[in-house]
Amino acid sequence: MKVPLLDLKPQYQSLKKELDDAILKVAESQYFILGPEVEKMEKAFCIYLNCRKAVGVSSGTDALLLALMGIGIGPGDEVIVPTYSFFATAGVVSRLNATPVFVDCDPVTFNIDPAKIEEKITKKTKAIIPVHLYGQSCEMDKIMRIARAHDLKVIEDAAQAIGVQYKDGKYVGTIGDVGCYSFFPSKNLGCFGDGGLVVTNDVKFGEHLHILRVHGAYPKYYHKYIGGNFRIDAIQSAVINVKLPHLDRWSEQRRKNAEIYNKLFIEADLAEESGRTNFDDKNKVLLPKAVYKNSGVKNYHIFNQYIIRVQQRDRLRKHLSENEIGNEVYYPVPFHLQECFADLGYKKGDFPVSEFAANSSIALPIYPELSEEQIVYVVKKIKEFILKK
Ligand SMILES: *Cc1c(COP(=O)(O)O)cnc(C)c1O
Repeated sequence: MKVPLLDLKPQYQSLKKELDDAILKVAESQYFILGPEVEKMEKAFCIYLNCRKAVGVSSGTDALLLALMGIGIGPGDEVIVPTYSFFATAGVVSRLNATPVFVDCDPVTFNIDPAKIEEKITKKTKAIIPVHLYGQSCEMDKIMRIARAHDLKVIEDAAQAIGVQYKDGKYVGTIGDVGCYSFFPSKNLGCFGDGGLVVTNDVKFGEHLHILRVHGAYPKYYHKYIGGNFRIDAIQSAVINVKLPHLDRWSEQRRKNAEIYNKLFIEADLAEESGRTNFDDKNKVLLPKAVYKNSGVKNYHIFNQYIIRVQQRDRLRKHLSENEIGNEVYYPVPFHLQECFADLGYKKGDFPVSEFAANSSIALPIYPELSEEQIVYVVKKIKEFILKK
């Protein structure tokens, strides 16, 4: 049985007519960049996320870059980021000639560990970028308390967490000063190319971001600021406008798939709760934990990824691949061990939880249209590997 890590075709097939029509409508209008589809999308997100301003942009990476530029991050500034995330989170800081300052992650959620933030704050610290990794909120209460106490801005990297609610019901991305999302096709809400979104509840700041999106021009050809080309295509927004009403249903399906995995791992006597950074019992699989599951909010996790941790991860990957089961490692190298950040002076052992995660994590297929038989097959193949190793 073939089980791809992600298959976007069933989702496209289910909305094909509406999506094709929406794209054709843009073609017929010949209005390709920004314009009515983008404005419609921005309004829809203000309603869906319950926030005051939304700015459609060219990618999730550009969303982060624009947010940092809007805040005024520049040379000499320090920005606190988790060492364990997708590269863009730290890359955008360096691109503005500021310094990313790394913090280890929490062993249960893989999200930034709030208890380790304060020791990294200096006079130069300007902001924190919490990343809601894999589709579950960071501990925003603690992060916001630290940020307010030290007068720091909070830029939420919600690229993997669109539609996720924190335990108080608020949508991630709308809790800090500014939130950033990605519409990269493999994210839970993907367009047909690159796209992203920035949101804020500060109306003035939101207007500033709209200006920076078009080279800082307002009115046209009058530049008070230096911005960039962070514009989103109308076609991408048209696709998002068709898909957004279905997002919660897809997230529900992903949660259901995660529950099936959890149940099967427990029944197979392989499951161990996540939270440790070693393997006492070599035959166990550390399962992802949805920490806000009992908080009463609906979208407590959207499982952009379903991540387990195992010993001999690379051998398991090979076994899965040989059996046509898609898998991936998010992410094999934390930022502090990346070559491009060598000059920052970190070394192996500096962030043990992230290093453990990088060495033991493996993502399994979790997309909404996955069948129960496919999940049964994946768990069966993992059990087979563990019992014979
Ligand atoms: C995908 C992602 C980004 C970047 O989004 P793009 O649209 O690919 O530029 C940033 N941060 C995180 C955590 C991501 O997963």
